[in-house]
Amino acid sequence: MSDKPDGSILQRDKETYAIVPRTPAGMLTPEFLEQLAAVVRKYDIPITKITSGHRLALVGLKKDDIAKVWDELGTDVGRASELCLHYVQACPGNSVCSLGVQDSLGMGLELEKRYVGVDMPAKLKVGVSGCPMTCSEGYVRDIGLIGKRSGWIVAYGGNSGGRPRIGDVVAEELSTEDAIALVDKLVEYYRQNGKKRERVARMVDRLGIEAVKETVL
Ligand code: SF4
Repeated sequence: MSDKPDGSILQRDKETYAIVPRTPAGMLTPEFLEQLAAVVRKYDIPITKITSGHRLALVGLKKDDIAKVWDELGTDVGRASELCLHYVQACPGNSVCSLGVQDSLGMGLELEKRYVGVDMPAKLKVGVSGCPMTCSEGYVRDIGLIGKRSGWIVAYGGNSGGRPRIGDVVAEELSTEDAIALVDKLVEYYRQNGKKRERVARMVDRLGIEAVKETVL
């Protein structure tokens, strides 16, 4: 059994660790930023980085400091490499962006709340955008939501990385409630049909988007 501290990733030096505190939808408060700065200084953490998925990475921690850092940050232990929801990206949407037509921040926070801590066949990434500009990259995320004036588009099976895939549009013009209900079904479909370590994109390649639609619509 691994003696890797909870929520940590051993770095290539085989001595120090990284952790990835959860920052739902990339939202940060002054209080958290002050606490973060205090912790980074106190434990002399050499690298503090914002990741591509709205998460924070604290890199170069000593093993004995990890539990104390989690405690002092006051966040839930972030799951960095486990088979579960890794993050929900969400753009500012209609709360501040002049182009926004849907509440992507509210939707992103709701989806994060629903799926955080739920076991998945592999990691799951979600992108929620408040208009068709799609700044949160939902077409290349396992699940993508794109806001239009007429409602939400829900895309499924996107992936970036080494084998990119554009997600298939499963439904359009959905109300917020209907979009959440559909995402619930798509997550459950993945939990039932995905093989261990198979991303949604590869599952859709294997089973076909029509089979998915027949089940969830
Ligand atoms: S996707 Fe649209 S609403 Fe969101 S940040 Fe980009 S332009 Fe603004």
